[in-house]
Amino acid sequence: MKVRFWGVRGSIASPMTNAELAVKIETALQLAVKAGLKAETEIPAFIKSLPCYVRETVGGNTAWDMMRRDYGGNPVEAHILLTHTHWDHISGIPFFVPGFNPKNRVTLYGPFPNLEDRIRNQQKFEYFPVPLPAAFHFVQLKENSVFQIGEVQVETLPLNHPGGSYSYRITHKNKRLIYATDSEYKDLSNQSLMPFIRFFRHADLLVFDAQFTLLENIEKEDWGHSNVLCGIDMAIEAEVKKLVLIHHDPAYNDQKLYKMFKDASEYLEIYAPDRNLEICLAYEGLKLTV
Ligand SMILES: [Zn+2]
Ligand SMILES: [Zn+2]
Repeated sequence: MKVRFWGVRGSIASPMTNAELAVKIETALQLAVKAGLKAETEIPAFIKSLPCYVRETVGGNTAWDMMRRDYGGNPVEAHILLTHTHWDHISGIPFFVPGFNPKNRVTLYGPFPNLEDRIRNQQKFEYFPVPLPAAFHFVQLKENSVFQIGEVQVETLPLNHPGGSYSYRITHKNKRLIYATDSEYKDLSNQSLMPFIRFFRHADLLVFDAQFTLLENIEKEDWGHSNVLCGIDMAIEAEVKKLVLIHHDPAYNDQKLYKMFKDASEYLEIYAPDRNLEICLAYEGLKLTV
């Protein structure tokens, strides 16, 4: 199973600012001076040696950002599983370029009520000048659905989020991916967490809402999001193989996100050194094979 991430930011798109870019350039130049760089030919290797928060960005796009892809000119059959209809998860639909080709077929799935109306309403003339193109189709799911898309089995589970959100468990050829955002786990009792742990059990990949640090999660109770450490604890409990942290807070810059990830890695090392859990910070364009 191939997994690629387009849009890993939560809540609202947050492109890098000029001030943040300037800090990255300044830090890189300071490190270049320290490294005693003498020739232009040394630059590529030097760039590779820079810390991630200097040479990379996690990106500012939110969950729906698959505007353009090279499909080799062939008609596309796309199946898109929607978690819920908060803006950060649907705002790219009007700009979804493959949807404008009538030879394509784009099917949207969702267990929340009125799936089709919600998506069509977003493209009423008052909000967007072009109605939803004919390539789009809808499959209204139930709360706890189990269904097939070709050889792929898909299951849904309601999450804890204002207005509701749904997790998807996707299984293909004995490989299992869980997509679980947006969700808050305020009650950490066994009884409350068990339905989620059961759903996440033995996943090869768990994509988890880790919007906040633990402290900020406590301050932002009832915002409907979770934190990095909660993701690690639940992934260990569910014996997940790889945990991907996603839905990054729009106020967190690269430096803060990579620091948060470093702290999370240390937490995992101290708390569960014997567990076989890998963790990964989602960034724009990340590709994983499960
Ligand atoms: Zn969201
Ligand atoms: Zn949401």
